[in-house]
Amino acid sequence: MGLSGCDSPPKHPERAGIALSFDDHFLREWNELIPLFRRYNAKVTFFINCPDSLSLEDITLLKQLQNEGHEIGYHGTIHGVSTQMIQDLGVDGYLHTEIRPGLSYLNNAGFYPTSYAHPGGNHNARVDSVLLASGFQILRDVALAERSYKGFRLYHIPPKYLPQIYYDFDQERVVDALLIDYSANLSSEEMKDVLKKAKAKGKAVMLFGHEPLTAPPTATQYGFDIAFLEEILATAQELNLKFYRMSDLPKVRN
Ligand SMILES: [Zn+2]
Repeated sequence: MGLSGCDSPPKHPERAGIALSFDDHFLREWNELIPLFRRYNAKVTFFINCPDSLSLEDITLLKQLQNEGHEIGYHGTIHGVSTQMIQDLGVDGYLHTEIRPGLSYLNNAGFYPTSYAHPGGNHNARVDSVLLASGFQILRDVALAERSYKGFRLYHIPPKYLPQIYYDFDQERVVDALLIDYSANLSSEEMKDVLKKAKAKGKAVMLFGHEPLTAPPTATQYGFDIAFLEEILATAQELNLKFYRMSDLPKVRN
């Protein structure tokens, strides 16, 4: 009576967790993170954008990630603007341009992704329905705590206040993850708050980044600070958060 509001304790506190993912095609750089992930027993998702058939080296690198228990998800063939493609080319044209070629390269190499990350965070309900009908179990979009325009910061929201980055175990299949790249300008304190909220609410916080870096990105780089990732992993361990791969999330049933 009257206690079912926002601050009610979680029904399943043991579900509290973190779902980390990494986008694009940094196969070698991601492999170098394997010892770090092992140290924290972290299982994560790699969303591969796949413009060409995979080389033997690529296949070996992806197999190593998969053998570690990580998920290989899919991130498109040409990394295009899906809403524009589906409007201009129709559903078949979109599938033949963005989805099928790269997926067949992955399938030929022995990978069958069940999760998809929208290139550039661009999508709409029509794109989502086509992808869900194609067999993807979960679609991941992008959430930003900060936006800038021509070098000026328009806003910066403490990310713990972004409800969409928390998975509520409601079998939702269209989700958002918070960008943790340098460009997001997140502080260590803000990240701790983000993880603590997942713990308190019994939810899984979804985070993602691109290239692992040891120094701020050059003009052509985009990625996250490996030391920042390690802080996230250490806090997750302290809080005893579960690690989820993206395809795990909608499988958790009440
Ligand atoms: Zn991307």
